Amino acid sequence: MKILCADYIITCNDNFDIIRDGAICFDKKIVQIGKANEVIQNNPYAKVKRLSPNSVIMPSMVNTHVHLEFSANKTTLIYGDFIKWLQSVIEKRDILKKSCDVECYENAIEQMLESGVLIFGAVSSFGEDMQSCIKAPQKVVYFNEILGSHPDMIDDIKFNFDKRVEKSFKFKSDNFIPALFVHAPYSTHPLLAKHVINLAKRDNLLISTHFLESMAEREWIDKAEGDFGEFLKIFNKNAKPMYSSMEYLDLFKECKTLFVHTNCCTDKEYEKIATLDAYISHCLVSNRLLNNPLLNLKSIMQKNIPLCIGTDGLSSNFSLNIWDELRGMLFAHTDLDILKLAKYLLIAATKNGANALGLKESAYLKEGKNADMITIVLPQKVEDIEQLPLELILHTNKVKSGYIDGDRYV
Ligand SMILES: [Zn+2]
Repeated sequence: MKILCADYIITCNDNFDIIRDGAICFDKKIVQIGKANEVIQNNPYAKVKRLSPNSVIMPSMVNTHVHLEFSANKTTLIYGDFIKWLQSVIEKRDILKKSCDVECYENAIEQMLESGVLIFGAVSSFGEDMQSCIKAPQKVVYFNEILGSHPDMIDDIKFNFDKRVEKSFKFKSDNFIPALFVHAPYSTHPLLAKHVINLAKRDNLLISTHFLESMAEREWIDKAEGDFGEFLKIFNKNAKPMYSSMEYLDLFKECKTLFVHTNCCTDKEYEKIATLDAYISHCLVSNRLLNNPLLNLKSIMQKNIPLCIGTDGLSSNFSLNIWDELRGMLFAHTDLDILKLAKYLLIAATKNGANALGLKESAYLKEGKNADMITIVLPQKVEDIEQLPLELILHTNKVKSGYIDGDRYV
């Protein structure tokens, strides 16, 4: 058993309890958490390590949405417009896929690890990233993705998808959890979406989907108008919207769903999401780069929909460092009080993210929970504890150490 002592322990529990001069005693699980003198006294045989001054211990950061298969992109894809970006992804995807070798995957996974992401959700379109995700030190929820709208292709797509899912299940473990992903309402035929959703319901699997990411998607779904019409005709001359937004949301009843983006949702759609067993993954940088609107956090907060954080892939981000994403959010959501927002974002990046990915035992620091935690050293002392979440987001790039099931990986 080990004991880590730090100036601050941020538990990320519902009360957002912060323990000053705290300690955590742990093996694979957390044995005791509290004031350092009490924890040390109660566990006399544990090896004690006192972290540097101004240290913080907190739960693992969770990146709920990343596409590793596009990690080779730096300046290849087109930003500034969702449809132009999508066209460039289709045009360049084979080149990007080929140029992401094992080292490219490892670098992406390492970047997340160094920033304290010990849990992530990877969306896989082709299964090329599977081995790297299996070997990753982190806990990985592996979302097998389905998409395709042409009726003639349905059987082939289903067949290939089932094969990928089956393969991922061969490697299922505590740290590699297969899950399902429906690409989006504009791209996935109802027969394919229903096939995947039925699988999720039957086997109680986590499911996720992009939803109402751009105004182009909004216009297409609502009115069959806008830039999407021309774009989708490349794939299907007779393309028309396959669902209304409400019909699409209804499909996910009785599922555990992670909706990604949702930044073009109306209040009514958020009300509907609030009735589902659902989370929303906020990918701010991706939304900004593709000129998509800012997520309405106020509406999400009012409806008590739990928010979590995603970096999206390097296909629409310059970084997989989750602190870059959080800093962006602090500066973008100017309608919210910055101190309250910082606290809200830390909960989103830890507890809500772990819960969204079905890893409830890693969600916050408490006796009996998994010893999945990170340590961070702040550059100076923070006198006022109310400032701590904000200072942490402003000043953190890399963590000092990271523990997964009590073993040190960073
Ligand atoms: Zn995405």
